[in-house]
Amino acid sequence: MVTATRSREAREAPGTQKTQRVTAADVVRLRAVAGEVPDPEIPVLTLDDLGIVRDLAVAAEGRVEVILTPTYTGCPATAVIAADVERALHAAGADVVVVRTVLAPAWTTDWMSDAGREKLRAYGIAPPGACGDALADGAAGGRRPVALALTARCPRCGSTRTREISRFGSTPCKALWSCRDCAEPFDSFKAI
Ligand SMILES: [Zn+2]
Repeated sequence: MVTATRSREAREAPGTQKTQRVTAADVVRLRAVAGEVPDPEIPVLTLDDLGIVRDLAVAAEGRVEVILTPTYTGCPATAVIAADVERALHAAGADVVVVRTVLAPAWTTDWMSDAGREKLRAYGIAPPGACGDALADGAAGGRRPVALALTARCPRCGSTRTREISRFGSTPCKALWSCRDCAEPFDSFKAI
């Protein structure tokens, strides 16, 4: 029995693309491909930096299903991100790709990786502060109140002597701040 199974696997040589079974290794590889797709608004960040790829699974007939949670509900980048993920997975060999968007539980900036925060800072955008700890009581399940950062650290000089100029920066998910020490304006990623 065991021998028979082995020989059947051995016959499925790579290169017979048409009806090739997707293996566990393929799932890992495709999940990595999806995670490496850059964010269309802040291209230094990948989707894994943002923490928005929730799941990737392979269903019957090799259909690849990806679940994304948008960073902000109604963020115009969501459709672009879905199309980019689909394109990247096609390029990586997935014939049929379905991208699903799941809104609950809602994304929070706490899902952003440390590497992603560092990339934001280097890019000139103040990374979001943690909001999970302060709001831990209401954090289980449902929607949480939007945390208003009391201060944002200047990504250029590191000063905390900063002030908010506008609730909305270059995109709705960022606020426009100004540094009193180096006098530079900068975007601050809102913590939600
Ligand atoms: Zn500064």
